[in-house]
Amino acid sequence: MPKAHPTAEITNGDAASSSAAKIAAAGVDLPRIERAVREILAAVGEDPDREGLRETPARVARMYAEMFSGLKQDARIHTQKFFTENYDEVVLVRDIAFCSMCEHHLLPFIGTAHVAYIPEGKVIGLSKIARVVEVISHRPQVQERMTEDIANLLVEELGAKGVAVVIEASHSCMTIRGVKKPGSSMVTSSMKGVFRSNLSSRAEVMQLIYGKGR
Ligand SMILES: [Zn+2]
Repeated sequence: MPKAHPTAEITNGDAASSSAAKIAAAGVDLPRIERAVREILAAVGEDPDREGLRETPARVARMYAEMFSGLKQDARIHTQKFFTENYDEVVLVRDIAFCSMCEHHLLPFIGTAHVAYIPEGKVIGLSKIARVVEVISHRPQVQERMTEDIANLLVEELGAKGVAVVIEASHSCMTIRGVKKPGSSMVTSSMKGVFRSNLSSRAEVMQLIYGKGR
């Protein structure tokens, strides 16, 4: 199992983000990205050596290392520490903010994930669920696969009776280019176990995610 890089997920503050970038950069060929970015700048007719652009390739390289840091991590590292509880109702973590990169355009898609499960003895810390979302989102992604991967991982690791993952995101490739539809968002869901087989369980979790009292 790959080593965890816990601090790679801290992005607030200069000190934190520079150490985060360093850790995230482990195993990423930064000079290669820099060369590629210089090429892109030249290809669009820019001068990569003009003052404002001189540091850009290095900056972009560090940014990609951070945005794709999840490629080097196994999200399962965050589900190893669990508690045994006789709780068999819905556990829901709502509004987990994330930023991922669409693999078709390498543009960000930004949104929130709602993750629910019904434990079968195994319960994990709520922050761990956010960590799982973080790791899986920091890869070249499509929203459908991201939704499915989070759900499958929790089914496999927790043996939960049911897992429901709903993700809403705004895709830059839809809002700033192409059809240019700002404000549009995409919703995907993955229902496993009882959330798939039992309509009232599914209705309950959707009510908890979107219902009154929000
Ligand atoms: Zn895209």
